[in-house]
Amino acid sequence: MQIITLSEETAIHYGALWNGVDTEIAGPGTLFTTAGLISDQPGYQPNSLNFSHLTLMPAMTDCHVHLAMPYESSDSFAERVNTTLMAGVAAVREAGSRNETFFSDPRLLIANCCRAISKKGYYGSNLSKAVSSLPEALTEINRLASHGAQHLKLITSDVFSFSQYGETGPLPFTQTELTAMTELAKKLGLAVMAHASGDEAVRRCIAAGVNSIEHGYFMQEETLPELVKHDIAWVPTLTPVAVHLSNPHLSSLLSPSEKNTISRSLERQIEMVGLGGALGIRIGAGTDAGAKGVPHGSSLVGEIKLFRQAGLTGSHALKAATSDAAKICGFKNLGVIQPGNRALLLAVRGNPLMQPEILAQPEVLLLA
Ligand SMILES: [Zn+2]
Repeated sequence: MQIITLSEETAIHYGALWNGVDTEIAGPGTLFTTAGLISDQPGYQPNSLNFSHLTLMPAMTDCHVHLAMPYESSDSFAERVNTTLMAGVAAVREAGSRNETFFSDPRLLIANCCRAISKKGYYGSNLSKAVSSLPEALTEINRLASHGAQHLKLITSDVFSFSQYGETGPLPFTQTELTAMTELAKKLGLAVMAHASGDEAVRRCIAAGVNSIEHGYFMQEETLPELVKHDIAWVPTLTPVAVHLSNPHLSSLLSPSEKNTISRSLERQIEMVGLGGALGIRIGAGTDAGAKGVPHGSSLVGEIKLFRQAGLTGSHALKAATSDAAKICGFKNLGVIQPGNRALLLAVRGNPLMQPEILAQPEVLLLA
């Protein structure tokens, strides 16, 4: 894998192209870039790149990562960024860290929440500031906005239980609290990503008007159409659950009954992704990178493959990590190859719509 920063004007000759939205690849052809943007006009004397043996597609976006995690690991932020880029991922949305951090890097696009908000005494204190009252939460949201946060991450439920099938724990916030926090965030221009598992948590988030549901394990089938109706995206994060079964070390820590519970919970979630995709929910690929057993960057291909397993078509599954992901994360002019958009591109060998596994070994990441 090679990372190339595009010079001023470049002509890229490609063998095939997937533009980030269509159901098929096209090509061969030539794409032009000028000043970091995709252009339909050649420059005066463009540099040229010969990718006639490769397929060009938008660089990928991971909708849910924790760049400060894992805490116990010795790798640096720069190493995590590098691992992310080397996997063909050029943009990520941060989902919270223990200490307030505004992450930035000259090569990786990062949408920051700085720090999530949770309720004191409930799940999430390792990713967030735990507040004890609504006024404290509102003060914190104002403060985060003035510190440059690009979205708000709310922790509105626990994680689901590995021992009791379907158990998602107590709910930290009332409807009034959730609605007030969401309204203030939106007034300040922040989209709201809500960690929510269990049907009641998801329903409260929908009523509050959040922009995306993160995880959403154990929401009921009847809740899925509500996401479509209210234009709320869903980032189902299959990977952080699947790794507990596929990673030999993590799996060895579980009892047979826990393995069974996790396996049933994952199967249910995969089925719901298939149903949600068919209903037209905007689905985002988010890996929860940094969570136990989930490496930064390379995990995204696994999430796409699980989407395929759920029944999403090749283009639908890949949109979840490109054009739909960019919309969910609030990255403007990204994720679709069209004139005027940012020239963050990935070259792969083969057809990524037919063979998602080739994304595990991308050839070239082009950065503008
Ligand atoms: Zn997370």
